[in-house]
Amino acid sequence: MKKQVLVTGGVGYIGSHTVVELQSEGYEVFIVDDLSNSNIEVLDRIEKISGVRPHFEQFDLCDRVRVQEYFQKHDGLEAIIHFAASKAVGESVENPLLYYRNNLVTLMNLLEAMGQYNVPSIVFSSSCTVYGQPEVLPVTEKAPVQEATSPYGNTKQICEEILFDSISAYAGSVRGIALRYFNPIGAHASAEIGELPVGVPQNLVPYITQTAAGLREQLSIFGDDYDTADGTAVRDYIHVVDLAKAHVVAISRLMEHNNKKPLEFFNIGTGTGLTVLQLVKAFEKVTGVDLNYKLVDRRTGDIEKVWADTTFANEELGWKAQSSVEETLASAWVWEKKIRNIN
Ligand code: UDP
Repeated sequence: MKKQVLVTGGVGYIGSHTVVELQSEGYEVFIVDDLSNSNIEVLDRIEKISGVRPHFEQFDLCDRVRVQEYFQKHDGLEAIIHFAASKAVGESVENPLLYYRNNLVTLMNLLEAMGQYNVPSIVFSSSCTVYGQPEVLPVTEKAPVQEATSPYGNTKQICEEILFDSISAYAGSVRGIALRYFNPIGAHASAEIGELPVGVPQNLVPYITQTAAGLREQLSIFGDDYDTADGTAVRDYIHVVDLAKAHVVAISRLMEHNNKKPLEFFNIGTGTGLTVLQLVKAFEKVTGVDLNYKLVDRRTGDIEKVWADTTFANEELGWKAQSSVEETLASAWVWEKKIRNIN
């Protein structure tokens, strides 16, 4: 019997890549997604890559009764990977209640159902945003969580607290891992799945690839007066497939009871920081495209620099990011060209 894993938000960017990795490791995947920020066609593309169509139901995990009915019906589920959440910082400032409801209530409904229906393991999508601007870099998991700069960031912090308190109260019957993502970019090598932002991209790499593809006039680089090598902000960009693989490792750690604490936290990055300009130059080099960009004022709420100390994840999980930033950017460009029909 294959082990059954529920992937919430499995039609989305990181979710879909994780589904493919889970399938290749022999898991039977069940997706719940409300398709609020994703496209149902992704299911066909997952099937094209893996040869297996994941089970799928479309509903909003804020619906507590629906969540309970789902677990009652699917009594073989052994673990959950919870991606489904709202993730745009700017939107969260404009519509905080949407973010608090979507991100907190869905997690609470799942944790409640895990207790009721004996599902013992959960992997949660957290973010390096919980560290704010760290005082020491690279940042380790021991760095203090700092006051959030947006409702989105605050939901990730509160979710970590909800997880901690609920898992403590379950006293051994439920265990969890929170993966703190740095900046996921890139696309699957098949170019069947990748990042597909709705509307104007808020994130750097989709903005770069859309500019290179001619959909956007010019990339604005936010801030050139930071205290960094060239004045632009530093981030740790990780290939989405490397990130996806970290979930598979985390799930098996929990399912095989190899976790050392009921709730563990891991940084999932490459360990290398790059400035925005360095990333743009790497993109130009690897693709041969001259990117039209300009330096503009800082974006409100952005931090200056953050990159991961991945020692704990590397040693404890036995996981390490494999792809170079060049390979990763090349995969993002292949994907962009494919969806825009560019040769
Ligand atoms: N950025 C930029 N232009 C853009 C989008 C992003 O200069 O159009 C910068 C942003 O200010 C940050 C970095 O690129 O320094 C990464 O931003 P992104 O939104 O991708 O991720 P974040 O680190 O904010 O979660």
